[in-house]
Amino acid sequence: MKPLATFAAGLLLVLAAAAQEQTPKAPVTRYVRCGALIQPESGKVQRNVLITIQGERVKEVQENLSAPAGGQIIDLSDHTCLPGLIDTHTHVLLQGDITAADYDEQLLKQSTAYRAILGTRSVRRALDYGFTTIRDLETEGAGYADVDLKKAINSGVIPGPRMRVATRAMDVTGAYPLTGYSPEVAVPHGVQVVDGPDEGRKAVREQISFGADWIKVYSDRSYFVRQDGVLDDIPTFTLDELRAIVDEAHRQHHKVASHAMALNGVHNSVEAGVDSIEHGNYIAEADLKTMAQKGIFYVPTIYVGEYVAQGRAAAGAKVWLEMIKIHEDTFHRALAAGVKIAFGTDVGGFDWGIDPAVEFPYMVKYGMTPIQAIRSATSSAADLLGMQNDVGSIAVDKYADIVAVKGDPLADISLLQKIDFVMKGGEVHKSAAR
Ligand SMILES: [Zn+2]
Repeated sequence: MKPLATFAAGLLLVLAAAAQEQTPKAPVTRYVRCGALIQPESGKVQRNVLITIQGERVKEVQENLSAPAGGQIIDLSDHTCLPGLIDTHTHVLLQGDITAADYDEQLLKQSTAYRAILGTRSVRRALDYGFTTIRDLETEGAGYADVDLKKAINSGVIPGPRMRVATRAMDVTGAYPLTGYSPEVAVPHGVQVVDGPDEGRKAVREQISFGADWIKVYSDRSYFVRQDGVLDDIPTFTLDELRAIVDEAHRQHHKVASHAMALNGVHNSVEAGVDSIEHGNYIAEADLKTMAQKGIFYVPTIYVGEYVAQGRAAAGAKVWLEMIKIHEDTFHRALAAGVKIAFGTDVGGFDWGIDPAVEFPYMVKYGMTPIQAIRSATSSAADLLGMQNDVGSIAVDKYADIVAVKGDPLADISLLQKIDFVMKGGEVHKSAAR
């Protein structure tokens, strides 16, 4: 009888262990104490704030409270806290392309696998800089590798921000690099080439089926400044093509981002009903009005223009220098027209070794107040991404995505390039806390 009793006791132990495993662990409670907390939506600065975090979300935000007796406390009482930053225009699979040669090299000499490995470094850097959410606006010839990077981050394989991805993007035949090669040589392209409304619809269906959160189109190319100072272009898609792409994406509850730098590209995009205008170096007054009315976002990407201008002008394309001035004027007019503006940098178009927060001082130089610039990278960006219930401010039930910096970024916006504390979903990624 004895062996059987032992067996029964052993079985009970196994069953008990299994039951224990099935009971979900209670989420960890953590506290973050901030000397100051910037609330972007209201523009309010709260002092001496205690943020209670349960698991990956914020449970409570209280002012002027002494620290709790127990629990895990992160002391940032000499720091200013902000919601995790959001960059709505990145390219994690691109490592800088000032010249066409830089771009061609990445597509011709690097495998998609190698580019994805470099991409793991880009996403880690994004998070290091304090960007806890990004919208990655196409892989530049690296297929669906952005979907895989997002998957690896979400499963905890590699560190990185929350991602919304656009996969391959679209342009028409002859409009997007690689170009200029012999007709006898088949070269890769930085986009999915589509011609005609039907091919546009099919590409939207295909990209969404393989994991695209956003659809990206390139709406113009070949920029030149007219006598009257207007930045003109050659539109890529016809209005019919753009309308088909936007309609198909919206039908499937997906949004469309349009690369549009000049007159016709912007106009056609606005007419077709896209959700965001990327770059928008020149936007006609009537189109700004429509954007404000329809709630179409403007993602100005100022710094990258300045970054590539010198290199491209040296290579003979002086128009890039003129475009900087035109861009500044457009930014002023967009602000005055009440167009919604979201922070986006095009990082990847410039080296990932540069902190994309370099964009903030440009936005302020071009006419935003510091709080407007911060709002563009937090609550406004969250609106554009449709993530306003999860990110964009430090509030009850949102993700505990918190960054912090010494000093007051409202007095000196360039401090946002010195973020030394980053928390994503309640987990500390980088810390200088005491
Ligand atoms: Zn871009």
